[in-house]
Amino acid sequence: MIKKILTFILSSCVAVAVAGGFYNPWEDVVRPSSGQQQIYGGYNAGCVQGAAAPQDTGFGFQYIELSRNKFWGHSSSHQFIERMGRTLRPQGISLLVADVSMPRGGPFTWDHASHQVGLDLDIEFLQDPRSFQRDLTAEERERLPKFYLANQEANAIIDRNWDEKYVTMLRTFAEDPAVHVMFVHPAIKKRICENPANRKNWLAKVQPWWGHDEHVHVRLNCPADSPSCVPKPAFTEIGCDTEEFLWWFSDDWRRVYEARKKWQRANPNPEPVPLPAMPSQCQGVLKDAGSS
Ligand SMILES: [Zn+2]
Repeated sequence: MIKKILTFILSSCVAVAVAGGFYNPWEDVVRPSSGQQQIYGGYNAGCVQGAAAPQDTGFGFQYIELSRNKFWGHSSSHQFIERMGRTLRPQGISLLVADVSMPRGGPFTWDHASHQVGLDLDIEFLQDPRSFQRDLTAEERERLPKFYLANQEANAIIDRNWDEKYVTMLRTFAEDPAVHVMFVHPAIKKRICENPANRKNWLAKVQPWWGHDEHVHVRLNCPADSPSCVPKPAFTEIGCDTEEFLWWFSDDWRRVYEARKKWQRANPNPEPVPLPAMPSQCQGVLKDAGSS
């Protein structure tokens, strides 16, 4: 399966890692390193040795946009997806999994600040009816329809797209002990908060964040086999009635939102953020000749 995926990638256009003199070597590697699977560093500054490719299709899940070559992860990520597929498919939910990490992890030039150690996964809200019937072709996985649960501008749920299945999906993720935290658009958490029955411990793992209107970002805990993986500190719960959560629906939030939009319009091609300081072992991972 790895070979099949790599052939598909190598025949596609690999993203150029050079932007205005800025060079990101992590975006140039197309294969994982050799060596035992091991994470070095943290979610925002780290790498993964001996990363695993997923089984790209299984019961209740399919990985998408394979040409991006960003499906590599620690095997605990792929096991998580297999576990969630088994649990959620009988409940009428099919998972479309987008970015995990690059073949050796490391920093992205543009796409993500985290996703560097194979433990962050983006899972689409889209429930493509075809994916319940059959495996989508590699080409179909590149051209899936855009599907949003929240409207950024209105800062609200898109009611015609909302389904209680999303509560089941997020609750099932949150109740899995491998999950550290998840990020969703604040309107999604707000909708879940509206039902008192949902106000349980699991909801603490669902955190509001910018974007995340068409996918949920799931972050897993450092696995036991990687003592050099730097865990995130325990996060502070942003509860439904807290000032911190209500801020996302305040006039102050609107001011920040408009300022961000204005900045993005004025800077359509921003300079890449400098690469983070990486653990020393990551140089070895980067330079490795690669797995066969
Ligand atoms: Zn993400």
